[in-house]
Amino acid sequence: MLVLGIESSCDETGVALVEALGAGVPRLRAHALHSQIDMHQAYGGVVPELASRDHIRRVLPLTREVLREAGCGVDAIDLVAYTRGPGLAGALLVGAGVACALAAALEKPVLPVHHLEGHLLSPFLSADPPEFPFVALLVSGGHTQLMRVDGVGRYELLGETIDDAAGEAFDKSAKLLGLPYPGGPALSTLAEGGDPAAFKLPRPLLHSGDLDFSFAGLKTAVLTQVKKLGPALDDPQVRADLAASTQAAIVEVLVKKSLAALDATGLQRLVVAGGVGANRALRSQLDAACARRGVRVHYPELHLCTDNGAMIALAAALRVQAGVARPQRGYAFDVQPRWPLEAIDF
Ligand code: ATP
Ligand code: MG
Ligand code: FE
Repeated sequence: MLVLGIESSCDETGVALVEALGAGVPRLRAHALHSQIDMHQAYGGVVPELASRDHIRRVLPLTREVLREAGCGVDAIDLVAYTRGPGLAGALLVGAGVACALAAALEKPVLPVHHLEGHLLSPFLSADPPEFPFVALLVSGGHTQLMRVDGVGRYELLGETIDDAAGEAFDKSAKLLGLPYPGGPALSTLAEGGDPAAFKLPRPLLHSGDLDFSFAGLKTAVLTQVKKLGPALDDPQVRADLAASTQAAIVEVLVKKSLAALDATGLQRLVVAGGVGANRALRSQLDAACARRGVRVHYPELHLCTDNGAMIALAAALRVQAGVARPQRGYAFDVQPRWPLEAIDF
């Protein structure tokens, strides 16, 4: 089964071909990505209308690129998968429209996919795929959740952020430090030369006794520091110290809550997914803490942490393999800009 996946929920156009043979773990045949970061950078964030228009420009050339890379014709596609939500409505409509038009022309079925399920399952494309059941830490630009995952489509929410997402905390703090959008990767690079103990920043909800997160207060604390420092922030070492302290606060909460989720479920396996899963400090601290407990940690390949088409094609392939999805022969579509993962029910 050859699955074409199309992702267009935000500011990345991603297209990929994933092949599933029998019940084996699906394999990535080809993938192509166009990031709109340069286009949105001038505005300090994603401009929805510009995002939709750029998806229109990119999606067909990227589709041709993956077919060429995989060395197959468009007729070889057995199933077309697309991101149905959550995300920007206009951006989602581009991917959904193209996917359904293509499938209709080819007389092949389509399968709508939940973007977060794509992130969640993306480590299955790594060299060391996880086994069920596991605890998943989903840390992206719009979400911060801990889930218990018993199988494909069997997701139980254990806790989530009550305000900002971890990626948002990285991005907003980075903006306060004058770093360009999206600030997460830039802040983490700046943090490498800094002292994580230089500034005392809050660890919100660290001892709340539940598995929820809160990052809005951290952004305010960083703002207070920035104002207090004033011109002193021009010193490269001070900037690096504040970046390192901010990253340390976010990472400590993510690590402690992940360990608490492992305790609460009694599971011995952790999967980390979403853009913040690319963060080096998070990976090294999770690896160290989990090694001490004999817990295995699985991550997506670094280039598949942020949005991509491969995770959408993969999620569709895994859903079909597990018998939890019904590929559709009807080509009417809708999108779901707001859509909790626990609510998926096709
Ligand atoms: P969602 O998936 O919740 O809809 P999204 O698709 O925008 O949101 P992702 O593409 O998964 O989110 O991840 C993007 C986020 O990851 C951004 O907030 C970005 O700053 C953050 N990020 C990426 N790399 C790193 C890194 N190395 N360190 C910290 N944050 C990072
Ligand atoms: Mg993005
Ligand atoms: Fe995402």
